Amino acid sequence: MRHAAFATLFALAATPVLAQTPAEQVQPVAPGVWMIASAFPPHRQPDGTTVIFRAPRGLVVMDTGRHAWRRQTILDFAKAQRRPIVAIVNSHWHLDHVSGDPALKAAYPGAKLYASRAIDEALTGFLARSAAEAEPYLAPGKLPPETQEDIRGDIATTANGATLKPDIAIEGSGVRDLGGLRLAVNLAPDAATAGDVWLYDPKTRVAAVGDLVTLPAPFLDTACPKGWAAALDQVAATPFTTLIPGHGAPMSRIQFHLYRAAFNEVVACAASSRDKADCAAAWTKAVTPLLGDDAAMAKRAQGMTEYYVADVLRAHGGKSAYCKTG
Ligand SMILES: [Zn+2]
Repeated sequence: MRHAAFATLFALAATPVLAQTPAEQVQPVAPGVWMIASAFPPHRQPDGTTVIFRAPRGLVVMDTGRHAWRRQTILDFAKAQRRPIVAIVNSHWHLDHVSGDPALKAAYPGAKLYASRAIDEALTGFLARSAAEAEPYLAPGKLPPETQEDIRGDIATTANGATLKPDIAIEGSGVRDLGGLRLAVNLAPDAATAGDVWLYDPKTRVAAVGDLVTLPAPFLDTACPKGWAAALDQVAATPFTTLIPGHGAPMSRIQFHLYRAAFNEVVACAASSRDKADCAAAWTKAVTPLLGDDAAMAKRAQGMTEYYVADVLRAHGGKSAYCKTG
C-alpha cells in the first residue's frame, strides 16, 4: 500500500503540465472552410478561433492560437488534408491569435504571412510592457504552474516578435488571391487593435472577423470603440450568412445584429453615468442567447464587462489606453 501511494504521488509530481492538453477538433463550417473553436481552459490564457480555408494551391489559415496544442492541431490537419499551408492571416496581433505563426512557417517555409502593421507598435508598446509586468509572477508559487507556463510562452513569443511581422502588410481593404482563393481581405483601422484584419469568402458567404466579435464580452483592452463600431457596420454591409467570431460559436446574421446592438449599447452606457454593474448586466442580458447553456459564461460576461466599462473605457475617456484616435 505504502509503495503504491508513493508511486502515485511520484507520478503526480512528475506529470508534466502539458499532459492536460485539451483535445481540439477541426469542425467544418462550410464546404472548404473549417474552424478550431476558441478556448479558455481553467488557469490558462485563452486561444482565439482558428479558421482554415481550402485554396486551390493549399490552405489559408487565419489565426494560429496561443498554445502548442493549437499549432499541432493545425499542422496535423494540413498533413491529413495533404495540402501545404500557403498563407497565414493574423486577424490582429493579440497573442491568443498569432503565437503559432513561427511554428507554421517553420513547417511550411513557403507560407506568406498577411497582417496589418499594428504589430510594429505593439512589440515595443503593449507586448513589451506585458512581458515586463508578467516577469515577477514567474516566481515559485506566485501562480498556478499552468498559468506560469502560459506566461513563459507569451514572453518567449514576444522576444521572438520579429517573426510576427507580415510578409505582406495589409494597408487597406480589397480582394486578394491567397493560394488561388479569392478572398475579400479587409482592414479595420483603430478597432479591437490599431489594425484588425477580417476576411469574407464570397463563395461560401463566410465572414471570419477575429476579435471584432468576441464573447462573453467585447475584449476592449487595446480598443478604439468608435473604429470598432464602424468595423461592425462594414461587416453588417457584407452579405455573409455565417460569421466566425474570434471568441465564441459561429453566428447567423440575426445573432450578429444582436451582438452589434449590444456592443453599441455597452459603449454608450460606459459614456453615461450609469453604474458599471448596470451596464454589464444590460450587456449580459442582451447577449444571453449567444452565450449557450453554461451559467459560468454569464458570470464571466458580467465580471469582464464591469472591468472593461470602469477600468478600460471610463479610465481613459471612453477608449483604451492604447487607442490613438477618437
Ligand atoms: Zn482574442
